[in-house]
Amino acid sequence: MPRPSRPAIRYRIVPIDPHAHLFEVALEIDEPDPEGQRVRMPAWIPGSYLVRDFARHVIAITARTGAGPVALTKRDKQTWQAAPCQGTLQLVYRVYAWDLSVRAAHLDASHGFFNATSVFLQVAGREALPCTVRIDPPPGIAGWRVATTLPRDGARAWGFGTYRAGNYEELADHPVEMGRFARASFTVAGVPHDIAITGRHDADLARLTQDLQRLCAAQARLFEPRGGKPPFERYLFLVMAVDEGYGGLEHRSSTALLCPRHELPHAGMKGVPDSYRGFLALASHEYFHAWHVRRIRPAALVPPDLAREQYTRLLWIFEGFTSYYDELMLARCGLVESTEYLKALGQTISQVLRGPGRLTQSVAESSFDAWIKYYRPDENSPNAVVSYYAKGALVALCLDLKIRQQTDGARSLDDVMRLLWRRYGRQEGAGLAEDGFAPLVREATSVDVAPLLEAWAEGTGELPLADPLRAIGISLELDGADDGAPSLGLRLAARPEGLTVATALQDQAGMRAGLSAGDVLVALDGLRVRDDKGLKTMLARRRAGDTVQVHAFRRDELFSVSACLQKPPPTEATLKVDERAPPAARLLRRGWLGPRAHGGA
Ligand code: ZN
Repeated sequence: MPRPSRPAIRYRIVPIDPHAHLFEVALEIDEPDPEGQRVRMPAWIPGSYLVRDFARHVIAITARTGAGPVALTKRDKQTWQAAPCQGTLQLVYRVYAWDLSVRAAHLDASHGFFNATSVFLQVAGREALPCTVRIDPPPGIAGWRVATTLPRDGARAWGFGTYRAGNYEELADHPVEMGRFARASFTVAGVPHDIAITGRHDADLARLTQDLQRLCAAQARLFEPRGGKPPFERYLFLVMAVDEGYGGLEHRSSTALLCPRHELPHAGMKGVPDSYRGFLALASHEYFHAWHVRRIRPAALVPPDLAREQYTRLLWIFEGFTSYYDELMLARCGLVESTEYLKALGQTISQVLRGPGRLTQSVAESSFDAWIKYYRPDENSPNAVVSYYAKGALVALCLDLKIRQQTDGARSLDDVMRLLWRRYGRQEGAGLAEDGFAPLVREATSVDVAPLLEAWAEGTGELPLADPLRAIGISLELDGADDGAPSLGLRLAARPEGLTVATALQDQAGMRAGLSAGDVLVALDGLRVRDDKGLKTMLARRRAGDTVQVHAFRRDELFSVSACLQKPPPTEATLKVDERAPPAARLLRRGWLGPRAHGGA
């Protein structure tokens, strides 16, 4: 078969020095810009809204043509410009790769992992052109293979060799793992799915395969209820098993997951313990993103500009709705019982209620400011920031239940997702406009939710959770933390220097008394405070309204304050199926949790 002509942009990457964590990259550009070709390292990676300045790990960059060396000038923190030259321009540089996360690059003698945004320079003005990537094995190490969904261009399946991408954006959307990984496979609607696990583990691959297959099939049916194929030729779960660490990043036909190895299922494991549920929810979340955010996208992020921040107020739809469905789909496909699902949903409600930031920042504002707030948490974040993941999931819940109630169960948020998919996902297009969501909900369901969405997404009032849950036969109870023991309103952390205030919650007892983040608690009413448990034991013997004397260190200065204990705010949510709910409510509940969910619903 004749090979297509060679693209004008060609990358080659070698894990040249695993002990020094260095990849070497060579980039060849045919017919460079005669004015002086510019190249640029991305500042961020799509899916993770923080400027990470990947250029800071680029080392020893040089340029040359067949005629000899070419001068390079640094134009800004992430841009280089070559002197005008003719013929093929070749840049060679090294990248330091020692970030064990799903967002960057990591290399040692056990494995290598990279996202293109961490290792491959963009060729300015030619980001839309196709390219090839030759991936070479590490010198002196045998037995490694390659796991990626980059289309092969000569490389064998799971092998080193040449791959290709239609443009830089596509290149950036296929992470690459290399090493000795365990593999398993399954199919969904005829589409091959693979799992590749790096890191030491004892996972029961048969169990994992069976469960992921069930989950992925349910998600594919959600978007294509008539049995259409998922929107990719193949899908790959890249899993890095570690002792502790957690993260996932979505891509168009793969996901990179980092998880504690004890979250993976082991041989003979019964049921779905919380740890494994956590892993399944992570996999569920990232797989859902293959439709929602990788293909259905906010218009404001199309095309992505990787040089600087891009702003949208809609991450609560893209991350929040994905968070809503990640756990819900586990119940709907029968992997977890409805009681377990309600426990997880109760935890999400508690998470939102524990943060006073929900009364200060809306999820739309949180989306817009993700770059400087949600992704850069500090000691005041609980007071100032709301999670567009957690509260976004609760907005999705309110919206879903509202639609079900208004239409007697004939329509739901699923219909909204399917219309989003047909309108913005199936074909690459402009994406969802900032003001496009409420009209779309109306079109999909005939329910006008515009005023409600305005309040829930742009406002900072409490979400009305109890009523819609009652309408589907589920009761919501809210209690204070620690069995209602009086509270200082502090978030505490065990540090080597002692029990330390991580956050003094807004307008609660500790802050009012003058305690601040960083203070080390020493004693309560003259008795030494050793740890969080000890403090709770002391507080449980007092009452709201009591005044206590707290001794603490700020820096090296001992001080003492009087704090008036408060009743803890009702933050702890418990959801229960109401067995006495009327038949109409039970029918709605069944529609919501799906026919396969069991355990009382
Ligand atoms: Zn996500």
